[in-house]
Amino acid sequence: MFMSIIFEVLTSISYWENLCLFISKISAALTSVTHGCLGWINLLAPCVQTVPSYLPKSFSNGAINLTNYWGSFSLLGVLCGAVIIWQCCFRAVLRKESLGAGHIHEESPAVPICLKFLLRKCSEGTECPEHHCFLPYHWQYNVSSGVEWKNFSEKDNLALEKLYCDVNVEGPVKLNLAQAIASDGKTLPPWECEVSIDVNSMTLSLKPTAGICAAGYGSGKLRRFATPPCSTNPGHPLSTNWRWYWEDNGGVWCMYEKDHLGRNLQELIEHAFLEGLKQNETDYTFNFKVKAHEYYLVFHSEKGMHQVNMQYGTKRKVKRRPERFISPEEMTVFKR
Ligand SMILES: [Zn+2]
Repeated sequence: MFMSIIFEVLTSISYWENLCLFISKISAALTSVTHGCLGWINLLAPCVQTVPSYLPKSFSNGAINLTNYWGSFSLLGVLCGAVIIWQCCFRAVLRKESLGAGHIHEESPAVPICLKFLLRKCSEGTECPEHHCFLPYHWQYNVSSGVEWKNFSEKDNLALEKLYCDVNVEGPVKLNLAQAIASDGKTLPPWECEVSIDVNSMTLSLKPTAGICAAGYGSGKLRRFATPPCSTNPGHPLSTNWRWYWEDNGGVWCMYEKDHLGRNLQELIEHAFLEGLKQNETDYTFNFKVKAHEYYLVFHSEKGMHQVNMQYGTKRKVKRRPERFISPEEMTVFKR
C-alpha cells in the first residue's frame, strides 16, 4: 500500500501545487504505517499540509527532478522531527502543570489519597490512580437525586473533619456552612437553609430557614476520602492512624487496649476490619476476649458497628476515628 501511494504521487507531481499533495500523501502513508504504535504521529498530516511556505526555492521550478524528490523527503524528515520535538515539549509542559493540580477519581472512591502528592513528590500528575487532595482528608456531599458528588469549601472541609475526629460528637450537629449547597441544579445559599451534619451516619439534612417559603430540602449523604491506614503504611507521617473506641455505661468513649493475652486490640480490630473490606464484606464480625469476658464486634456497613458481650448480650456502640485532627498549618511543615 505504501509503494502504491508513492507511485501514484510520483506520477502526479509536475507542478508546485502538487507538491503539497505529495507531502500530504507521504505523510498519510507514514501515518497509516505507524498507526497503532505511534499514536502521536497522527498529527503529522495536518501539520505537513500547512507548511508549503517553508519549501526551498528548488521545489517551485515546475517539473520535479530526483534531487527535488529526495529533497522533499529530507524536508519531511525535518518536519517530522520538528513535530515530535514540539509534541514532547508540549506534553512536558502539560505534565508539569498537572503535577500541582488536584483530582478526585469519582469512579473509584475507595482508592486512598496519594501520600506522595501531599508531600509534593508525586510525579504521575493526572495519571496517578490515587486521589490528589491537598489535605490527608477530603469531604464530599450528595444531596441530588443522581450520583453527583460535590466538594466542600476548604473551610467547611476543615469543620467537618474536626467534628469527625472528636469521638464524643453524637447525633446531628447544626453547622453554619460557608458555602452554598448544590442540589439538582439548584444552589442553596447558606442563609436559605439550615444544615445538620451527622458524621456517625454520614448524612446531612437541609431545612429551609425561617421566613423562607420553600419546600423541605430533604437530606443527603456524606463521604470522606482518607490517606492509607498506618497498618499498611507504617511510619509515614500522613498515613491515617485509626483508633477504635467503645462506649461505656456512662456514655464515655474508651479506647480498646489489650486482650486477655496482652495483645494490642487496636491492631487486631483494625486488621480484621480491613480484611473484611478487602473481601468486600458488608456484615462481618471479630471475636475477642478481655480478661474473662468474651465479645464479638460487628462491622456492618449500614447498621453501624457495635460490640456484644457473649455471656450477657450487652450491646455497646463502637467507633473508628482518626487519632487526631491535622490542620493545614501542620501540613506546611510536612511539605518543606
Ligand atoms: Zn499521586
